Amino acid sequence: MQRKEFLKLAAFGLASLPFYSLSRNDGDELYDVVIVGAGLSGLTAARRLAEANKKILVLEAQDRVGGRTWSQQVGEKDFIDIGGQWIGKGHDAMYRLVAEAGLKTFPTFTNGKSILRKDAENKIYSGDTPPLGFFALLATQKALNRFDKAASLLSLEAPWQASNAVALDDISIGSWIDATITNKNARTLIKRMAEGELCQPVEKISALQALAAANATGSFRQAEKVEDGALRDRIFGGAQGVSHFLHRQLKDLVKLNSPISFVKQLDHYLVIGNENFSVRAKKVIITAPLPIVKKIQFTPSLPKEKQILIDSMEMGTVIKCHAVYATPFWRAQGLNGSVTCLDEAVELAVDNSVPGSERGIITSLIHADRAKSLLKLSDEERKQVLLNAYAKLFGEQALLPQLYHDYSFTNNPWIGGAYSGYFKTGVFSQYGEHIAKPFGNIYWAGTETSTLFKGFMEGAVLSGERVAKEVIS
Ligand SMILES: Cc1cc2nc3c(=O)[nH]c(=O)nc-3n(C[C@H](O)[C@H](O)[C@H](O)COP(=O)(O)OP(=O)(O)OC[C@H]3O[C@@H](n4cnc5c(N)ncnc54)[C@H](O)[C@@H]3O)c2cc1C
Repeated sequence: MQRKEFLKLAAFGLASLPFYSLSRNDGDELYDVVIVGAGLSGLTAARRLAEANKKILVLEAQDRVGGRTWSQQVGEKDFIDIGGQWIGKGHDAMYRLVAEAGLKTFPTFTNGKSILRKDAENKIYSGDTPPLGFFALLATQKALNRFDKAASLLSLEAPWQASNAVALDDISIGSWIDATITNKNARTLIKRMAEGELCQPVEKISALQALAAANATGSFRQAEKVEDGALRDRIFGGAQGVSHFLHRQLKDLVKLNSPISFVKQLDHYLVIGNENFSVRAKKVIITAPLPIVKKIQFTPSLPKEKQILIDSMEMGTVIKCHAVYATPFWRAQGLNGSVTCLDEAVELAVDNSVPGSERGIITSLIHADRAKSLLKLSDEERKQVLLNAYAKLFGEQALLPQLYHDYSFTNNPWIGGAYSGYFKTGVFSQYGEHIAKPFGNIYWAGTETSTLFKGFMEGAVLSGERVAKEVIS
């Protein structure tokens, strides 16, 4: 986050997290397991291992826990989720954690009409289906059916084993869409939807990875849906609350501000650390997103297959923008704040207001190359582009929020992008099976390694549970 933005948020009364640092003496301890990263995957693994009486230590590069979840109070009742926010159908591990943490959920706001903006015009509509025209809608439905059918044919555990895996990994999902959908409007909509999930241009991501990701989420449709889908609920106080809960349980077993730059596997233990400190452990779990793993030097070197995966993964680009208003004024116009734009900077917006608050929050997400272009602007220019787009949707009042905030994890050196990472075409089918394969006493977790709900908070938690079992067994 820009310093200016942080100060602005601090002015809204944000509490800072405790600060720990390691001393050189910690090198004398021999931990059973050191976990690199205090995101949801690392904290989940840490909790399970601590419950199994393992002597553990979590080392986190940043000054906070939560990784790609990061929530900030922006008023007495209002908060924003700068990172992950929604949980929904099938996210059972997350719902369990939320309940254990004593947190409550609330449904995504959908009362009222949505907007489709296309050809510089707002089309207001009810229900889930944007008014694209009969033929475009028919083509969209047919394409979604084909997409979800093709996705469901892949194995969840080993999509790279499908007989057509290599062929699907050699073509981009963009080419797949072009070959499958003839209607131009339907093609534009599905490409936007796919880029909204992948956060990378559809020309860059292989059909195999896009289909496998959809299958891991239930289906492409499910990933996009509010009711009965992935966008069903939010967590009061913000999704980072789950990580704060886990942090409170682990207390000073979590060391913040402790970036790891090397992992050495010796005969009887590993040495993990940076130029200022090191610790010894029998096993280490790495949860950093794969492109960020490049910052860690491994001795001996990682196996070739794993290194290829690390070198060829790119994190997606997404900007999440929040505008906080005195009231949710769009509701008085019968609107629910949901927007799909086919020709504006804002691609997708939702009403993220907090129940019980008088204020209104519009949150938008901008993905892939459109996000990259906006990131080249100054903070003020980007804000103006976004607010002008909001004004075209909701009227002049949208130009005057009480607070505007945007952030992209692309600018976070310890995460590098979001929602998750994808490999260059041709890599997943050949090396996918190595993604979570341990190397000696080095184990791997993180949402990218999950079989189910890859890229989601649920995937992160499931990967933490899986790796803890692996380490214990
Ligand atoms: C804008 C945005 C919106 C999203 N929306 C949703 C949503 O609505 N629903 C949903 O389910 N998911 C959503 N996600 C995705 C979700 O947040 C992530 O999938 C999940 O939080 C990833 O958790 P993780 O533990 O796998 O990785 P991370 O959260 O990335 O954790 C990895 C940790 O490792 C640390 N680290 C990295 N390198 C080192 C090092 N060398 N030494 C020490 N520590 C290191 C990092 O600082 C980080 O804390 C969203 C993400 C973003 C960014």
